[in-house]
Amino acid sequence: MPPSTGTVSKPADFGYFWRMFMRFRIPGLLLVLLPFAIGADGRDEEAFADIHVHFNWDQREIIGAPEIIDKLQRGGVEFAVVASTPSDLALELRRAGGDRILPLFSPYTHELGRRDWYLHARTAELAEAGLRSGAYRGIGEIHFMTGFRPRFDNPVFQRLLDLAEEYRVPVLIHIDAADEQLFVDLCRARPGLKLLVAHAGGNLQAAHVRRLVEQCSGAMVEFSARDPWRYGGLTGEDGRLLPGWRQLVIDYPGRFMTGTDPVWKVTRTQSWDQADDGWDHFERLLAYHRHWLDDLPRPVAQQVRIGNARRFFGRANTED
Ligand SMILES: [Zn+2]
Ligand SMILES: [Zn+2]
Repeated sequence: MPPSTGTVSKPADFGYFWRMFMRFRIPGLLLVLLPFAIGADGRDEEAFADIHVHFNWDQREIIGAPEIIDKLQRGGVEFAVVASTPSDLALELRRAGGDRILPLFSPYTHELGRRDWYLHARTAELAEAGLRSGAYRGIGEIHFMTGFRPRFDNPVFQRLLDLAEEYRVPVLIHIDAADEQLFVDLCRARPGLKLLVAHAGGNLQAAHVRRLVEQCSGAMVEFSARDPWRYGGLTGEDGRLLPGWRQLVIDYPGRFMTGTDPVWKVTRTQSWDQADDGWDHFERLLAYHRHWLDDLPRPVAQQVRIGNARRFFGRANTED
């Protein structure tokens, strides 16, 4: 069953604070109070960074950039990280949404670019031009999936990683793997890389991700597209994080972020003749993520909901 939507409970629950105090003692108490200090006007209680959205050509057929910006604004999304196919649609969204949009360079520079991006040196040339100009603030999403899988030593992929390091920008990578080893190999080979691991949950279980987080001190992990309507694996029937995930996030609150990834074709056979209506589901996806976040201790929820993303993507606290 879908979780209840849109509720952000902020009761004056002193039992909660007492439990937090007993658990974390003085440092914990300071952490509990911190969000109130920085969010005195309440804004920080709601602010959400959606670090995984798309504005692809087959979505643009049925939804325009202004309508997406309106959805983000109404949803209290402080900023959204967008990857598009073709890549320059992310810049169209940026023009419509200004600072609310943080565009990534997608190596899929044409409609079917996901199939052949790694065969062309031109991909990396375009990435460099886009990063140098400041138009793009990172690289991704890059997929390593069955049927679309270059080797990790592919020169175009390696060049993109060089650029991510050189420009000190994040790179969002989606690996369709049943364990964490490929990510661990990647972070060990590139300790300076700002690696963002897409879609924890699903194939990547909490124990895998714990090993990844422990072995890759610079890597961040996000939970997009693991809602009950696509893959699942993250929350239980009540919409709360499963125990293994909950403990992991509490143990490493500075390492996780989340996003909606409003792409709907993942659940059905690829159908090139149909537009993707993923943005129609955006509101319930956002409500789903807010729901499990609300169940976490407040300082932890604040980090995962917004704080980590501000830091990782180099955003100031945009109280205005
Ligand atoms: Zn993905
Ligand atoms: Zn995606």
